Amino acid sequence: MLPLAQRHADLPSALWRRQAPSPLRHPRLIDLNTGLLARLGLDDRAWWQGPEALAMLSAAQGWPGVEPLAMKYGGHQFGGWNPDLGDGRGLLLGDGLAPDGSAFELHLKGAGPTPFSRMGDGRAVLRSCIREYLAGEALHALGVPTTRVAALAGSDEPVRRERMETAATVLRVAQSHIRFGHFEWLHHSGQTALLGQLADHVIARYYPHLSALPQRHSAFFSEVVTATARLMADWQRTGFAHGVMNTDNFSIVGETLDFGPYGFLETYDPYHICNHSDHNGRYAWYLQPSVGFWNLNALAHGLSPLIPVEALREALSLYEPTLIAHYDAGMNRRLGLDDVVSGDRELVQDWLALLQAAKADFNLSFRWLSSHALEQLQEQVMQRFPAEQERALAWLARYARRVQQAGCTDDLRQQAMKAVNPLYVLRNYLAEIAIKAAEHGDDVPLKRLLEVVRSPFEERAEWSAYAGEAPAWGRCLEISCSS
Ligand code: AMP
Ligand code: MG
Repeated sequence: MLPLAQRHADLPSALWRRQAPSPLRHPRLIDLNTGLLARLGLDDRAWWQGPEALAMLSAAQGWPGVEPLAMKYGGHQFGGWNPDLGDGRGLLLGDGLAPDGSAFELHLKGAGPTPFSRMGDGRAVLRSCIREYLAGEALHALGVPTTRVAALAGSDEPVRRERMETAATVLRVAQSHIRFGHFEWLHHSGQTALLGQLADHVIARYYPHLSALPQRHSAFFSEVVTATARLMADWQRTGFAHGVMNTDNFSIVGETLDFGPYGFLETYDPYHICNHSDHNGRYAWYLQPSVGFWNLNALAHGLSPLIPVEALREALSLYEPTLIAHYDAGMNRRLGLDDVVSGDRELVQDWLALLQAAKADFNLSFRWLSSHALEQLQEQVMQRFPAEQERALAWLARYARRVQQAGCTDDLRQQAMKAVNPLYVLRNYLAEIAIKAAEHGDDVPLKRLLEVVRSPFEERAEWSAYAGEAPAWGRCLEISCSS
């Protein structure tokens, strides 16, 4: 029923192993992402709600026409090279073409052990599957390239993490599941002759406009550099903290991939570390752009047998200007400005410094700017920034001058800003409420939260409970990195 090819199997067999799934006990379908399935042309709802789809989602049996495999890759984890990675608990089901012509792959995460499971059990817990589903929907709604979940299934199969939990699966949709670590592994394991084949496979599928170029490999790396730079700018623009920016979690097409203890900034704190196991703060939020560059350097090293070093350097030099231009444009849009002129970067930086000093909520502060006329903003300064009044008033005066210069009416400014500044943010405590309920068999809070994060800009009275900052109990949640 799934019209999928398995083009990854055209690659040298060092890069994959055929692997049958291992069934989960007493599965139940929790949610189908009907909007996404429709976009992929997989919208036979009766099939998705029937026994065959549940069998597939619960890793229960071979599925006609689908030959799952586990991918082999390596990766730099927290700076150290690990050659022993690969799909340890997920299987690539295959690839397809959506009606709009875009390529996609389906991957079943939590499908049981593979040759790359090391000491792991091959499972994913319901908690982390729900978090992955929510993150993909939230990022997509904010315009950030991301992998997404098309279906979520639970089971009563016990799994040990810090506590006993239950196993679940997600059907993940990505343009590509090929990671920086695929290339690095070929290089570090001395299989450099295969690098060109892997690069040509990626070019043919995801960068086809480059295939005829004499310098196609350099051109491909340049595009990976710019796609990664734009992704890092998008994460910083939206306050997304990934948490585990290892090179095995970095996609070759620049999509957000592999969600662990991620989080969206709540109080604006650039030094925020969302992963409690990241003791040195290697992946602290403000460092994400430089980690993206570090990862591209690791990829460049992996590609060095294929691409002359000068061309690698030239491609890497595109990173910073691309990131800065994309970030500046994105942050200016958040301030209601469609272009970027001299002085704007300082305006943005001073606004962020004000939020940091005031320990203000990152997203709600932008939403506040979006929801009131300029004079009203001034009137509300005392209430909003009690300890930073003068600084806030001075900043608002500069902002008002810049808005006037842009020649935009205040109504239009507010309207444009409300379309890019979310009112509803995927806060950890909201995810936690949905997870706890689903663990007790109540999927309603999850389904409601999914709806909210899919429409983060649209103010609705019935969603008012989702709009505020976290209550005290929800501010100090420790998000486990086990998953
Ligand atoms: P992650 O931190 O989820 O990106 O995983 C890093 C590596 O560990 C990947 O190769 C995963 O497939 C593998 N892995 C993570 N959890 C498990 C598990 N429970 N069982 C088997 N492999 C796992
Ligand atoms: Mg991973």
